Amino acid sequence: MEAISRFVAIRRDLHQIPELGFQEVKTQHYLLRYIQSLPQERLQVRTWKTGIFVKVNGTSPRKTIGYRADMDGLPIREETGLPYRSTHDGCMHACGHDVHMSIALGVLTHFAHHPIQDDLLFIFQPAEEGPGGAKPMIESDIMQEWKPDMILALHIAPEYPVGTIATKEGLLFANTSELFIDLKGKGGHAAFPHLANDMVVAACALVTQLQSIVARNVDPLDSAVITIGKITGGTVQNVIAERARLEGTIRTLSAAAMQKVKRRIEAIVHGVEVAYECEAAIDYGAMYHQVYNDPELTAEFMKFAAAHGGVNVISCKEAMTGEDFGYMLADIPGFMFWLGVESPYGLHHAKLAPNEEAIDRAIAFLIDYFSWKGNSEV
Ligand SMILES: [Zn+2]
Ligand SMILES: [Zn+2]
Repeated sequence: MEAISRFVAIRRDLHQIPELGFQEVKTQHYLLRYIQSLPQERLQVRTWKTGIFVKVNGTSPRKTIGYRADMDGLPIREETGLPYRSTHDGCMHACGHDVHMSIALGVLTHFAHHPIQDDLLFIFQPAEEGPGGAKPMIESDIMQEWKPDMILALHIAPEYPVGTIATKEGLLFANTSELFIDLKGKGGHAAFPHLANDMVVAACALVTQLQSIVARNVDPLDSAVITIGKITGGTVQNVIAERARLEGTIRTLSAAAMQKVKRRIEAIVHGVEVAYECEAAIDYGAMYHQVYNDPELTAEFMKFAAAHGGVNVISCKEAMTGEDFGYMLADIPGFMFWLGVESPYGLHHAKLAPNEEAIDRAIAFLIDYFSWKGNSEV
């Protein structure tokens, strides 16, 4: 058998037991059991739903540095064929949160043995993919009591080689919202359209009209995406559909553009209701706040990383991906960065297989960063 490090082994263990948002019971149990195996003198451990807070008391703390790792998997059937593939059929760590957790445990292990001056707060957060754990977690009593002065998190990036750290000052990830629109008309015999209200026709018209929002209502120097990824409607080929449902997502660079896009969607949907004599309901589902990196802390971090041997720092562009870590950054200054794990398959792909060499390298780098930041004056 190939020799693998302790934290790669942990990542493989976690990879086999992916669980959906707020169902991370086995994952939480696994993490707690591991954390209990560490020296406890400086640790304070508290659970929150399926998440965990671990405070590492510093030697003479002036501030608290927070570090967040998300915990949930996705409803995807794994197709990697790896020996340590998911044992939960139909569920997979296809967004690398298994890697995020193992890196956090690696860093935590070091500081449980070798504390620094400042306090550290490790946050194992459930439900990043949905319905969103960051917002309720930051509003929790524990977080309010142990609120860090700064916070950071990473996300694996399959498109970058191992050793790469990519981030930018300011906006990193977009504002995102899910979008569900239900249309209800009147079904009927396919040969008597005048006696029915056809929701397939209404849905098609609606999809076409929604395209005009990005083209005609959003400032071209701002940016927005509306994608309808799924349409369902009707029951059989020769019956006029009584119902149709559109499922999609909205992404915008600014919070203002998100508000504007939603107002336009509501107006257009109302227009379809009138024009096609039907009832419509809009549900925005989960919404994620933008990820906005504190410019000063990010610039300082990038400078630190650039001076660190074996790390290639890239100043990347903002992306239309969503991340609920944005809610934590809305409250606490900090930043998020991409960690290269070079895989030919992207995030949320059934064949995603991150290069595990990135794990130990990230642990070593973060230990150095926290040691520096947690012993420095500011
Ligand atoms: Zn994801
Ligand atoms: Zn993710």
